[in-house]
Amino acid sequence: NADVAKNRAKLDGRGGLQYFKQHFHDELVRQHRLAEGLERAIANRELSLHYQPQVSTVNGRIENLEALLRWYPADGESVSPAEFIPLAERTGLIERLGEWAMEEACRQQAAWRAAGIVDLRIDLNLSGRQVLAADGLERFEACVMRHGLRPQDVGIELTENVLIEADDRILAKLRRLYHRGVRIAIDDFGTGYSSLSYLKHFPVTALKVDRTFVRDAPQQPEDRAIMEAAIFIGHRLGLEVVAEGVETGEQLALLREMRCDLVQGFYFYPPLPAAEVFPLLVAPSATPH
Ligand code: C2E
Ligand code: MG
Ligand code: MG
Ligand code: MG
Repeated sequence: NADVAKNRAKLDGRGGLQYFKQHFHDELVRQHRLAEGLERAIANRELSLHYQPQVSTVNGRIENLEALLRWYPADGESVSPAEFIPLAERTGLIERLGEWAMEEACRQQAAWRAAGIVDLRIDLNLSGRQVLAADGLERFEACVMRHGLRPQDVGIELTENVLIEADDRILAKLRRLYHRGVRIAIDDFGTGYSSLSYLKHFPVTALKVDRTFVRDAPQQPEDRAIMEAAIFIGHRLGLEVVAEGVETGEQLALLREMRCDLVQGFYFYPPLPAAEVFPLLVAPSATPH
C-alpha cells in the first residue's frame, strides 16, 4: 500500500521513489478503470443485493436482513463494496447506486410480503452523501411508499459520522422518519470520532456494535468491556442492540450472556442472494449450524 511504498521510497533513495511513482500511477489507473466500470454497472445489470440475516439471541428467529450491495463486472472478478463504495462516494456515483439499491430492496421486500412473509425487516446502508443530499431521505420515503410498504418494513443504517454532519433540516427529516416507524440503526458503533452525547438527541432505534469488538472480545478484556458497555448503554437508552461479525460460538456465548438482542455474522449466515434467503424465512425457526 501507499504508506509502505512511501517508507521504501525514503529508504531506497531514487530507486524507491521510482517504485513509489510507478505504484501510485498503477493505482490511479486501476481506480480510473473501476470508476468507469462502475458507471456502466447499473445499465449492464452487474449489481445485485445480498441479504444477511440477523438472528434473535432469544428465539433463534431471523428478524431482520441487512441488504449489502454486490458488484460482479461482466468482464472481471467481483469487486468488494469496501472498495467500490468509497470510490462511488468520491465520484458522486453513490447517489445512483444508492438509488438502485433502495429500489431493489423495496421491490424484494414487496415480493416477500406478497409471498406471505410479513414480519421481516430489511435494512439498507445509506451513505453520507445520500442522507445529506437535499432530497435523499424524501426519495427513500417515496420509494418505500411506491412499493406499497409500511415504514417499519425497510430501515436504514447510518454511521455516527453522518449523524454528526447532519444539520437541523436533515435531523428534522430523520426525526419524521423515526416517528413514522422507520428503524434507524447506528452502524459500526464505537468506531467513530464522536462523543456519546449525540445519542441524546438523535432519532435512533438500534446500535450495531462494530465487528472489531466482537472479533476480539473472547481474548481481549478491553474489547469485551467495550462490547458490554455498548450493549448496556443501548439498552438503557431503550435501543435494540445488534452485534456484527459473529464468527464463533464463543463470541455468541458472550453476546448471549450480555443480552445482546440480535446477532449477525458468518457463524449463522453470510450475505446471501434473495433466492437462498427465502427458504430460511419460511422455515419454522433458524437455528445456528
Ligand atoms: P457494513 O454495513 O458494516 O456491513 C457489514 C460487512 O461485514 C459486510 O461487508 C458483511 O459482508 C461483512 N460481514 C458480515 N458478517 C461477517 C463476519 O462474520 N465476519 C466478517 N469478517 N465480516 C462479516 P461487505 O458486504 O463487504 O460491505 C462492506 C461495507 O460496504 C459495509 O459495511 C457498508 O459500509 C458498505 N456497503 C455495502 N452495501 C452498501 C450499500 O448498499 N450502500 C452503502 N452506502 N454502503 C454499502
Ligand atoms: Mg451496515
Ligand atoms: Mg456494520
Ligand atoms: Mg462494521
